[in-house]
Amino acid sequence: MSQLELNSELDENFEERITWFADVILPIPLPGTYTYRIPRELEEYIQLGSRVVVQFGKKKILTGIVKLVHQNVPQVYEAKYVLDSLDHAPVVNSYQLDFFAWLSQYYMCTIGEVLNAALPSGLKLTSESLIQLNPETAIGDAEAYSEKELVVLEALKSSDRLSFDQVSDLLGVKMIHAVLKSLLQKESILLFEQVKDKFKPKTVKTVQLADQFIADESAMQMLFELLEKKPKQQAILLKYLSLIRIDEIKSGERTLLKTELLTEDLSVSSYKTLVKNGVFVENEKIISRLEEITKVWQASHPLSAEQEEAMGLIHKSFEQNKPVLLHGVTGSGKTEIYIDLIQQALENGGQVLYLLPEIALTTQIVSRLHKVFGGALGVYHSKYSDNERVEVWNGVNNSKINLVAGVRSSVFLPFSNLSLIIIDEEHESSYKQYEPAPRYHARDAAIWLSHLHQAHVLMGTATPSIDSYQNALDGKYELVELSQRFGTGQLPAFELANILTSRKSKRMKGDFTPELLEGIKQTLIDKEQVILFQNRRGYSPYLICHDCNHVPKCQSCDVSLTYHMGNNVLICHYCGHKESVPAICDACGSTAIRTVGFGTEKLEEDLKLLFPEAHIQRMDQDTTRSKYSYQHIIDRFERGETDILVGTQMLSKGLDFDKVSLVGIFDYDRIVHFPDFRSHERAFQLITQVSGRAGRKDDKGKVILQTGEPDEPLLYKIKTGDYKSFFQTEILERQNFQYPPFYRLIKIILKHKEKNILQQATQQYAKRLIGELGRQRVLGPQEPVISRIRNLYIEEIYIKVEKKKISISKVKELIYKLGLEVKQHKDYKMLRLYFDVDPV
Ligand code: ADP
Ligand code: ZN
Ligand code: ZN
Repeated sequence: MSQLELNSELDENFEERITWFADVILPIPLPGTYTYRIPRELEEYIQLGSRVVVQFGKKKILTGIVKLVHQNVPQVYEAKYVLDSLDHAPVVNSYQLDFFAWLSQYYMCTIGEVLNAALPSGLKLTSESLIQLNPETAIGDAEAYSEKELVVLEALKSSDRLSFDQVSDLLGVKMIHAVLKSLLQKESILLFEQVKDKFKPKTVKTVQLADQFIADESAMQMLFELLEKKPKQQAILLKYLSLIRIDEIKSGERTLLKTELLTEDLSVSSYKTLVKNGVFVENEKIISRLEEITKVWQASHPLSAEQEEAMGLIHKSFEQNKPVLLHGVTGSGKTEIYIDLIQQALENGGQVLYLLPEIALTTQIVSRLHKVFGGALGVYHSKYSDNERVEVWNGVNNSKINLVAGVRSSVFLPFSNLSLIIIDEEHESSYKQYEPAPRYHARDAAIWLSHLHQAHVLMGTATPSIDSYQNALDGKYELVELSQRFGTGQLPAFELANILTSRKSKRMKGDFTPELLEGIKQTLIDKEQVILFQNRRGYSPYLICHDCNHVPKCQSCDVSLTYHMGNNVLICHYCGHKESVPAICDACGSTAIRTVGFGTEKLEEDLKLLFPEAHIQRMDQDTTRSKYSYQHIIDRFERGETDILVGTQMLSKGLDFDKVSLVGIFDYDRIVHFPDFRSHERAFQLITQVSGRAGRKDDKGKVILQTGEPDEPLLYKIKTGDYKSFFQTEILERQNFQYPPFYRLIKIILKHKEKNILQQATQQYAKRLIGELGRQRVLGPQEPVISRIRNLYIEEIYIKVEKKKISISKVKELIYKLGLEVKQHKDYKMLRLYFDVDPV
């Protein structure tokens, strides 16, 4: 229909009806929304936030979310009709739509990419490619087709559509594309995508007595007589009647769970016969995967004087709508304060979001919250199944769940009345998403979200990020401090063990100093527990040939392979590529292949030899792959079944153990000298957090840190727990070297299969950027430390912009525009271009 016709139709029908259009967000990496016309019969269902099925381009059918319903006829193209609507109520609300729009602008990605990250995949739709006969073209001469093509056409005549898999089965071959391509060229078939809803509600089988026996007592009588001769069936009927009272049956309440009825003593086949004969009727009932909401809440603890005082300050700044940064040493009782605030918010009818870093979540905090809040708590976690996530989503949407403890992606949930956001471990870099877009920081996004809802924000940590602390000093946040551990708890004593002197005097045993070994020994004698921290998983970082120094590397990345002894393989930690350990050197044939350095796996092995009696457990990415493995390790440790826990930074996150009196730290030197402007900040946070696991309740714990550089200046600040002095040194560095928080960084990442094409494109882009922004604002281009991953070469350009006086949104627009221009160049079609705003 042309524009003119459309308008004249509008005029004609104006008295009766208005034509509505929907602007739809599609989950594709193209900017903007697309306008579709709403057919009359769908009008009542299609509203802001509902899912619709639309045609995009010639062949694609997609599901999108309605962003706006309006009457403006699109001027540039003719709007297609919305094909279908999937929901009777919106799945996304207007707060979310505003939030998604902001995310896409701020983090320089499309709103479709945000949508893709936001919706649990159960709410997205899969599209399955299907084919059908083309109704417009008659099938011509059989001679025009190959044998295979004829088979397909024949099949399509009887079953009007086929999936690719079905075609493949039909022909008995995997490769069907040639056949389909040819049929498409002959215009004999059409290709389309069918959309299916992926979310499957959890159901249980229910059973009830058929209507006829209720309505008619003589029928019941006959049934009894009939079953006299069939004792097994009779037993089932009697069991049913014993579980349901006759008056309940009469009033229509006669449904049982099948599992309730069919206990083990009864015959399944007799039951089936009863169902087949229509005595019982089976049904499916949808149930929640989340547990029933229990109203029994356990009261929280009364607060200490210091906590009360902090609480007073928090309330005061909430009244001024100012976010609070709660800086409290480990074990000072921050979590107790969170619990009180959550309780108040829920009592006032608001919703609460409690953000946590990924790994801290499956553990103690959740069980602590659970004790107090029961079923009002929803947990949103990446290790949960997608169906479970959809249920949390729906629970928030229909206000059954008012408190969510979740990882960064829980900022996307459909809150409508958020009144409090708690950001625990505010400093955690895992709040930032690296891959794929949107590369958002959940803390920063949550603060923006709080403006939308007028919600209060509390960020808590023992080691504030430099950015947040500076914000507090600037008066943007209110700083509230807790400087004492709760009760009689004290911060641990810190001891440095010098690796170099021990090595010289030949007193090292493997990677252990005598001090640390002695410490472990004593702790085991005292029947207390040890935590050992080594921030590197695997057995050893790499293998090296002693004769020629050759190091085995990944075939598709520019990284050396990590040796994993458990499976005796070499693994690339960037792409997952595995290969067997070479018996001889690839380069020179020598057999003198040695391991270099050590990871958690090697420490675990060495400990088993050094302390054969002790129960040793390792906690790292490799031992916590399944949903509950992390929880099991923690539980065993809590119950005292593990004496020594060896692990990576997973150990540093908010765990609270009573009997840990020694924490041992390896490889500090590597952490502090990592080439990145944030390495000092990271080191301070990581070591302080890990150390905080020692001596939490009554005893003073001890930390032994192994280092080759005991006079390293940062170490002194960590040792004395002097955050302020650390901050002052660090903030000066940031100012002098023009880093955040004084400057904003945007990282531009370019990837391409061909190194020289990549370099050309990057050079061109950088040149244009320098032309527009000035040399001093453009750093690079440069190769990152790892310059090839999964066979793609990588180059980076950093844009550094002062915070004051410059409009960052203008700068972003410019970067985006110039990037698109480079990409449009005919030689750079395959160039991949990503933006990372505020990289960490
Ligand atoms: P943080 O979150 O700052 O690390 P926690 O809230 O975990 O500190 O508190 C440390 C320990 O002290 C926990 O075992 C906690 O139960 C206990 N605790 C904190 N505040 C109180 C309180 N007001 N009453 C009783 N126990 C408390
Ligand atoms: Zn060699
Ligand atoms: Zn690799």
